[in-house]
Amino acid sequence: MPSILDHLNPQQREAVTHGRGPLLVVAGAGTGKTATLVHRVAWLIAEGTEPARILLLTFTRRAAAEMLRRADGVLREMETATGRPRSSRVVSGTFHAVATRLLRRYGKAIGLPEGFSIHDRTDSEDLMNVLRTSLDLAKTDRRFPKKGTCMNIYSRCVNSRAKLEEMLAQHYPWCKQWEAELKKLFDAYVDRKEAQAVLDYDDLLVFWHALLDDPTAGRRLGEQFDCVLVDEYQDTNRLQAEILYRLCPDGQGLTVVGDDAQSIYSFRAATVRNILELPERYPDLSVLTLEQNYRSTQPILQATNRVIGLAQERYRKELWSDRSEGERPAMVTCEDEDDQTEYVIRRVLEHRESGVDLRRQAVLFRASHHSMTLEAELSRRNIPFHKYGGLKFVETAHIKDLMAFLRLAENPLDQVAGARLLPLLPGIGPGRARSLMERLHASGGDFSVWRKWKPPEACHKRWPAMVELLAGLAKSKAALADQVHQVRTFYTPLLEENYDNAKPRARDLEQLEQIAARYRDRRTMLAEITLDPPSSTQDLAGPPRKDDDFLVLSTIHSAKGLEWDAVYVIHAADGNIPSDMATDSPEQIEEELRLFYVALTRAKNWLYVTCPLRYYHHSFGRSDIHSYAQPTRFLPQDVAERFFNRTTTDVPREEDGLDPSPGSARLSSRDIRRQTKRLW
Ligand code: ATP
Ligand code: MG
Repeated sequence: MPSILDHLNPQQREAVTHGRGPLLVVAGAGTGKTATLVHRVAWLIAEGTEPARILLLTFTRRAAAEMLRRADGVLREMETATGRPRSSRVVSGTFHAVATRLLRRYGKAIGLPEGFSIHDRTDSEDLMNVLRTSLDLAKTDRRFPKKGTCMNIYSRCVNSRAKLEEMLAQHYPWCKQWEAELKKLFDAYVDRKEAQAVLDYDDLLVFWHALLDDPTAGRRLGEQFDCVLVDEYQDTNRLQAEILYRLCPDGQGLTVVGDDAQSIYSFRAATVRNILELPERYPDLSVLTLEQNYRSTQPILQATNRVIGLAQERYRKELWSDRSEGERPAMVTCEDEDDQTEYVIRRVLEHRESGVDLRRQAVLFRASHHSMTLEAELSRRNIPFHKYGGLKFVETAHIKDLMAFLRLAENPLDQVAGARLLPLLPGIGPGRARSLMERLHASGGDFSVWRKWKPPEACHKRWPAMVELLAGLAKSKAALADQVHQVRTFYTPLLEENYDNAKPRARDLEQLEQIAARYRDRRTMLAEITLDPPSSTQDLAGPPRKDDDFLVLSTIHSAKGLEWDAVYVIHAADGNIPSDMATDSPEQIEEELRLFYVALTRAKNWLYVTCPLRYYHHSFGRSDIHSYAQPTRFLPQDVAERFFNRTTTDVPREEDGLDPSPGSARLSSRDIRRQTKRLW
């Protein structure tokens, strides 16, 4: 038996060497599900499966790359230079990324035009908005749902394969009165995308699904893979499950791993039912569970087990660890947000002093804006950090503008790109933009029709330059960085006219030009950047240099599957966790609980949960208006006792050698002042 299996426990080994029958591994956080999948990929290759016939689906592109890197490591260990192919040829990525690749290759079979463009979520909402206005739905005296809600309803229907009527009744009862109008709107949305050769995110799955049903292309596609492996299965939606069923009709070669206690994407129509349903779908399914947690210390596990114990509905699984050493996690009450920031930074630096690099530490939060103060303070103190989740670099307006030039050049029928870019010129508003796009559409996408148009005075000089730029780009064979350079040269003056803070934005565009050099061609960059937007330019700069060290900041959603030595979960106040926006139903609150659980279970050795007691409101300039917060409801007394409760002013035990007796917190003068202030 090759040596790599020696690292694994018997259950993991069983999963790794399982034959070709369908296999489900349901197991808790940190029990080695992902590790098992990595070893299984390596095992399959070592056993002779052609890497290109393995499909590995994970939640993020980053996770896929990391898994393959690890699989390669395992392979290297297994076969010392036998010259066998490495895992680099494994087909891997997110469902959406893999769908894009397959549709580019086989889409013709179901009538997809070759150069289709992909709309990200904002583009899709914009298109929905255009239609909402043109169908006069925005004008009715009763309030019609906003574009974001329309898009949510549409997307949920598509992803969960549920009828609109049921969907409205179940999730959007206040929109039921608009059912007929929504149908009209969604029809128009589907037609418009077709006319413009556009696919949105949901379409990628819909078309992949359809492709698999096609008698010839579907069969070819199905035969392409011998083994399909899926990580984080609890967060797949109906459509993704249906795709898997088609890829593996009899379950041969299928391996999925997941944890029902970590399902946190139901707002995107993910359903934990996918896990529960597998045994019905595949009667010969083998189900394996893993219970030993290798990630966290026992004190951390005891706390996180209590937290998930609050959940109403779940598979019971009590995780254990043989790492019995270690500190209890800390629940830290802070005076306010500044105090919290101060505390977190102090702790981070202390850990770094004692040898835990910044990159082995992460600050996690429920909503992207929760980290703003911390980001500002880290920048001020020159502490490097990297943020994941939240508003991404490519979602910023100026980057989207520049990309719109490339997109329109790539697909002149892309109306959203046109509607974004044309009104950047003075004298062109939405009306003129629309009619220009109609002309372009009528000409079959030939930019020369725009040469005949007489532009208004305000842009009579720039118009011909823009037309030449686009016409040139459309047939350009120049390196992508040069193309971006041309757009940047044209666009920079417009940037100054259209936005505040033009300087930093211009710097971002320079960065983008450098980034462009990393892509093979325009289409690849558009697809990859739109599909998996990097959170900052650093993301695209390749793996960080060895000596690069940075603190990780991440939304909890983006921290899924990852682990760090020290984890700080900030803003653990009711209203933030659970979020005020997600407390309408017991199901939503349960999901928030699982989200909190996901955050806590990222910690290997140290876990800090912080909660500011007071929030200031700066909406009217700097003011002293504030409100008080309660610690999250997910830490009731019997859970909180698994934490070491402290305030920021407590001097930690190990530093002063004193042992504050539990329950009798020593009061500092600051505490006393704070208590006094709480009287009013
Ligand atoms: P999550 O639910 O958070 O995705 P997971 O179940 O996928 O967690 P992994 O990330 O695969 O867990 O593993 C958690 C940690 O435990 C990793 O550091 C991994 O290397 C380690 N690990 C897994 N299995 C073993 C083992 N048999 N021996 C030692 N370490 C292990
Ligand atoms: Mg995992």
